[in-house]
Amino acid sequence: MNHPIPSDLWLICPRCHAECLDRNLAKNEYLRCTRCGEEIKTPFVGRTIPAAWALSTTGLILMVLANIYPILSFSIAGNSQASLIVTGIAGLWFQGYGLLSVLVFFCVIAAPALYLVTVWYACAAWCLHRRWRGLPAILNMAAFLESWNLVPVFSVACVVATVKLRTLGSVRWEIGAFWMVIYALCILLTIQFFDRKKLILYVEEEHL
Ligand SMILES: [Zn+2]
Repeated sequence: MNHPIPSDLWLICPRCHAECLDRNLAKNEYLRCTRCGEEIKTPFVGRTIPAAWALSTTGLILMVLANIYPILSFSIAGNSQASLIVTGIAGLWFQGYGLLSVLVFFCVIAAPALYLVTVWYACAAWCLHRRWRGLPAILNMAAFLESWNLVPVFSVACVVATVKLRTLGSVRWEIGAFWMVIYALCILLTIQFFDRKKLILYVEEEHL
């Protein structure tokens, strides 16, 4: 005998609006929409929007600190020079690597900062129950920018570069390097906690 299934056991696919029966997930299991294949539910329960809001706020402050303090100072034959992130990018530009400098600027400064701004905006709207404009576009932008965050890669590249620089002169880490590492970790945590699917559902429920 078939019993009717209560409506709160149905999840709505954010992409194609098909109804999918909710179920408890084991570790490493995902619930996918049977019609379009969209991932509807993941077992990672740690995704929370208030945490992503707090992390993106912290990330934006760390972004300023990582960019205004020198990362390292390099001295050769008595001449010492402290380098900011932007100094290295400008160096690439003036050495004729225009395209590369634009790419590094985008991946290390612009995209991570914009990503944090989009996450901050979307999470703030959800936490404060505001129907702010442009949320669907903001969420699409966050999804696009997420994969362009190369701050962690840049941090590792800096360490590798100092190995080479040490053969030419003396290198000293400055306070900016500390901020950059914390900034990189903060972005990675923001990505982990940012529950985009929940926000997509919020946008659809509120008809934004
Ligand atoms: Zn679907």
